[in-house]
Amino acid sequence: MNDSITLPDYTLRRSARRRTIEIQVRPDSVRVLAPTRVSRERIDRFVAEKKAWIKDRQQALRLRVPLVSIPVPLDQGSELLWLGQRLRLEVNVGQQATHVSRHGESLQLSLSHRIRKPRAEAISEQLEGWYRAEAVNYFQKRVGFWSEQMRLTPSEVRVRSYRRKWGCCTSRGVVSFNWLLIMAPVHIIDYVIVHELSHLRHMNHSAAFWSTVAQYYQDYRGAKGWLNQQSDLHWPPRLIAAG
Ligand SMILES: [Zn+2]
Repeated sequence: MNDSITLPDYTLRRSARRRTIEIQVRPDSVRVLAPTRVSRERIDRFVAEKKAWIKDRQQALRLRVPLVSIPVPLDQGSELLWLGQRLRLEVNVGQQATHVSRHGESLQLSLSHRIRKPRAEAISEQLEGWYRAEAVNYFQKRVGFWSEQMRLTPSEVRVRSYRRKWGCCTSRGVVSFNWLLIMAPVHIIDYVIVHELSHLRHMNHSAAFWSTVAQYYQDYRGAKGWLNQQSDLHWPPRLIAAG
């Protein structure tokens, strides 16, 4: 039997500086990073050994890629995400006052006629303000819920801007969350909350930590995989639901 037939397709990138073979799995592709000197045969063998793992990982990723990164110009009719739901942006210029409010699936932004800054900038600023306020509200409530379930209470709940982090927990018991998370589905937000609250018991990512997480959030691997997909955090959002 020819093994290469059953090998998953992969692209190979070699580097002289690299010392180990690494497999990067994406929903529809596999990339292998390898040291320059390692033979193709050995790489094939390595990939063959990991075949089952690659398949599992790809299946998990494919199930959970509701978001893709495409630039979204924020203006009339833009689609935005809020708690995993799509909202359509409605911009009304020349208004008496500036404010944002949600009505069902429509996010209505009124811009005052007194605003002097460029339209795109004003829209982005107002939406960020709205999202942050929503995030503060939501996290306060939802952390309260999970605190009760887990009997772990933070000293403070904060909402912050992070480029590469979803949440964080300090040794003084302050838990912080990335405000962009308010765009994610509620089950994903729940995972991040359970994760951070579990740090109040274990300030590390030990097996004991993950077992606390799993006690309250069974499919934490799924949620982790989903979040890992959202690698670049930007405002304006580059996130749009892909169904
Ligand atoms: Zn952590």
